[in-house]
Order: sequence, then structure tokens, then C-alpha cells
Amino acid sequence: MMDQSLTLAIIFLSPFLGSYSAYFCINWPKQQDLLWRREAHEILDLEFKPISYSGSFWKSDCCQKPLKIHHRLPVMGYILNQRRCPSCNNFLFKLYPALEVTHLIIAILLSLVIPNAISLILNLLILSALVTLSRIDFKTGYIPDECCLVILVCALTIQLNTHTLSSHVLAMMLAFGALFLLRYFFSMFKNQEVMGLGDVKLYSVMAAWLGPSALTSILLGASLMAILYTLAMLITNSRVSKTSQIAFGPFLAISGIVVFFYYAQ
Ligand SMILES: [Zn+2]
Repeated sequence: MMDQSLTLAIIFLSPFLGSYSAYFCINWPKQQDLLWRREAHEILDLEFKPISYSGSFWKSDCCQKPLKIHHRLPVMGYILNQRRCPSCNNFLFKLYPALEVTHLIIAILLSLVIPNAISLILNLLILSALVTLSRIDFKTGYIPDECCLVILVCALTIQLNTHTLSSHVLAMMLAFGALFLLRYFFSMFKNQEVMGLGDVKLYSVMAAWLGPSALTSILLGASLMAILYTLAMLITNSRVSKTSQIAFGPFLAISGIVVFFYYAQ
């Protein structure tokens, strides 16, 4: 009974996590850009004049004006504001309602396969981090360390007090080592970076989450999807060529989510 009401509360609150995920997707690249500019100016010994940017969750993404609580209400805030920013009247990001609904669907699907409320929260956080990093990687080509850290902490917490903790830690180390070496040799062979370090970190934290038996299926599934996607892009998009780089993170994430639900059934 206790678990049932907790599960309902988690499902009810999941769209709020979706709001934060959308906020992070929009603001993380801006913050990184600012950090990289500052670093570059420091290296070149130039004066750095940062643009005024606060990036708070309680300020609008377009004009940085303070928001009221009802403006951040999942989906409702978007509809009540008639899709526009209350301060500058710019159109709001559609990403908010999209990710809020996605998080609600994920929470409902998780509740069908995970009866334990604590495990439900931890897995919801992992799937949320995967969705968030996929969107950021797809748009920018970077995978935030923050998302990998959330996955790692939640994955290891799930494994606490189980006899499988050590095998999951071992899988993480093996995944990191194997993909790191693969990346190293391919980069040497092709004389260019073939895979980001973010992909290596993501694969290893996913190994900590799903364990040693999922290692090959995650990588195989992700590679297959990436090949099919590249082929489809080569055929349909004239701007894509054989040398174009594609983000591998979203494919790793989708593959991991499919493997997770397959095991959880
Ligand atoms: Zn605005």
C-alpha cells in the first residue's frame, strides 16, 4: 500500500523532472560555451567580458526575467502562457512540454515493471539522464559529465545490498577499458577522433547500471542503429557525407533502455 501511494506520487512528480531536463538541455550548452570562452581568453591572456547570463531554473530561457511558480508548471505552464514568454512574448521552447510528457510516459512504463518505489525513483533518474544527454549530444556532439554521474550514482545505489554489486563494478571497468582502447586504436589508425570520450564514459556507466550480461547487447544494438541511421541519412540528406560525424550517445542510450526493459519484464 505504502509502495503504491509512493509510486503514484513519483508518476505525478515525473513531469517536473521533465521540466528540469528541458531546462538543462537548453542551458547546459550555453553555460559550457561561456566556460570555454573564458578559458580561451585566459589562455590568450585577453580580457573577458561575459554576457549577462544567469541560467537559473526560475528565470526565462529567452530574456532571463524571473518566472513565477505557475509559469514552470509542467505542460500547464506552457498552455496557460499561450506558448509565449510572459516577459518578452517570445515563443517558449517546445522542448518543455515534449520532455514533460516523455518523463510521464517513462514513469508509467517503469511503474509497470518495477514494484519497489526506491528502485523506481533511481531508474527514473537514470532514464531521465539518458534522455537529457541524448538530446544534448544530438544537438551539440557533447555528453555532459553531470548526466553520466547521475547514472553512475543511481546505478551503484540500486546495486547496494545485492550480491551483484561487484560484478556490475567489474562490468563498468571492463566497458571503460574496452571502449577506451578501441577508441585509441581506431583514432591512431584513422588519424582523427572516431569516438568522443563522452561515449566511453556513457558506455561504462551504463555497464554499471545493466551489468556484465548486457555489455555486448548494448554495444551491438547501438552500432546497428547508428549504421542504419547513417545509411538512411546518406540516402535522404544530401548534406551528409561519408566523413560527417554523428552522435553515438543517443544510440547507446536507446539501446540501453531497450535492454533494460527487456531484462525488467
Ligand atoms: Zn522572454
